Amino acid sequence: MESYDLIILGGGLAGMCAAVEAAAHGASVLLLEKQDELGGSTVLSSGYMAFAGTDMQAKEGISDSTQSLIEDMLEVGGGVNDPSLIDMYGEHQLETYHWLMEHGVEFRTLQAVSGHSVPRGHTIDPHQGIQSLYKRTKELSHVTIKFQAPAKRLLKNNDGRIDKVLYEVDGETQTAQAIKGVLIASGGFAKSEELLKLFAPHLDGAIRIGGEGNHGDGLKMAWEHGAWALDLPYLSGTYGFHPSANSRVKSQGLAYYKGGIIVNQEGKRFVNESLSYKLLGNAALRQPDGISYQIWDKTVMDQAVKDDPLYDFELLKRRRLLYEVDYLEELADCIDVPLEVLNETIKTYNEGIQTGADPDFGRKSLTHNYGKPTPIEKSPFYAFESTVAMLATYAGVAVDAKGRVLNSFGEPISGLFAAGEVTGGFHGAGYVTGSSLGKCAIFGRLAALEVLKNETAAI
Ligand SMILES: Cc1cc2nc3c(=O)[nH]c(=O)nc-3n(C[C@H](O)[C@H](O)[C@H](O)COP(=O)(O)OP(=O)(O)OC[C@H]3O[C@@H](n4cnc5c(N)ncnc54)[C@H](O)[C@@H]3O)c2cc1C
Repeated sequence: MESYDLIILGGGLAGMCAAVEAAAHGASVLLLEKQDELGGSTVLSSGYMAFAGTDMQAKEGISDSTQSLIEDMLEVGGGVNDPSLIDMYGEHQLETYHWLMEHGVEFRTLQAVSGHSVPRGHTIDPHQGIQSLYKRTKELSHVTIKFQAPAKRLLKNNDGRIDKVLYEVDGETQTAQAIKGVLIASGGFAKSEELLKLFAPHLDGAIRIGGEGNHGDGLKMAWEHGAWALDLPYLSGTYGFHPSANSRVKSQGLAYYKGGIIVNQEGKRFVNESLSYKLLGNAALRQPDGISYQIWDKTVMDQAVKDDPLYDFELLKRRRLLYEVDYLEELADCIDVPLEVLNETIKTYNEGIQTGADPDFGRKSLTHNYGKPTPIEKSPFYAFESTVAMLATYAGVAVDAKGRVLNSFGEPISGLFAAGEVTGGFHGAGYVTGSSLGKCAIFGRLAALEVLKNETAAI
């Protein structure tokens, strides 16, 4: 039987960081990837990674600290995320930022993004990131990557330790031995109607965007061996996609974080737009017919960021997804909302933000505690019909800060580790942008190192 120190299920960011880290420490690694290419949801992502205290921030005069990042994550997580996971993220975030660069991942720009008190969205091109890690696995010997090789089941040895993976190649079942451990990095279940129906019926109306192989296979394999699950009640979609969006053309715009507002078909605001886009998504799905529009003006349009996945509003215009008009009367016509209500909504909002906070929803900032909203008053005016997409399922198996999978009594399941979107407990009730890719890299590395400490399984 083929045998390796570490077997990794899934070649997204978590799996690839784990493979590079394990191989760099001399371990033999088998990485099984279900699809015919690496990347999963990682390569579909907007590429934001949450780090604090970086050289990129310093260059822009932004003063930040690990402590402030931790506080934001705990606050947005609503106090139900596991502080030991957040602390571990904090402890290793800056070192992981440097580690990624050492392994060829390029950081490009810095933006203010959801849930953060200062600009912390460090962008990567996720394809470039995955390819540079892939290149590293080839340079470091001992990494075998098998494509179109879905893992099917995990097996225990006589000591109760998970030490074998059953996987399929060309319809044939193969068995591989994991000498030190198995790491599940198979991503979430954004593409599994079965699991979404079961755990997130409230997201029925959300578009599905995610890695084609992300059906929750890893969850099911871990559950078979008694893994506990966390954060399932907080499954949320992401607000800000055009209803025509799909995994190929993701047409997304978050003008509300640059100062736009969100109204429903009645022309009324229904939420504080500076909240996490996951919470905005929940509120948007509750609106009549699930329809809502982002509205903004020239001042906000001038904040567009070329080539940015979230803020390139000019791209939305080129795709003919934006209404652009000189007067609010025309805008109300375009989106068929009552003009007098829309006028009143904007007037009340403008007065509110100029005198402190808006009276209806208490908006004071652009994103979480950051930036000052501007009145919607300068022509041209814009409207972007927006809806919610189920992108990522930030809920899954319980792990400790070392990446060991835990059972319902909080005890590690021998030989079993997990990292990335397949895990729960990290985001709790809310997600701050960039913390999923961040957690994939940080905990992928840490879990790999923990596996290598394991004693050899009795074969
Ligand atoms: C449109 C979009 C935008 C996003 N933007 C951001 C962002 O800007 N910042 C951020 O932090 N997060 C973002 N996210 C979320 C983030 O991309 C994911 O949470 C993260 O990439 C998950 O990485 P992962 O390695 O855990 O899983 P994935 O990258 O999904 O990789 C999992 C891999 O496992 C494989 N696999 C599945 N089952 C099996 C099996 N049985 N056997 C073998 N292999 C298997 C899959 O094919 C896949 O390749 C976004 C997500 C989407 C969809």
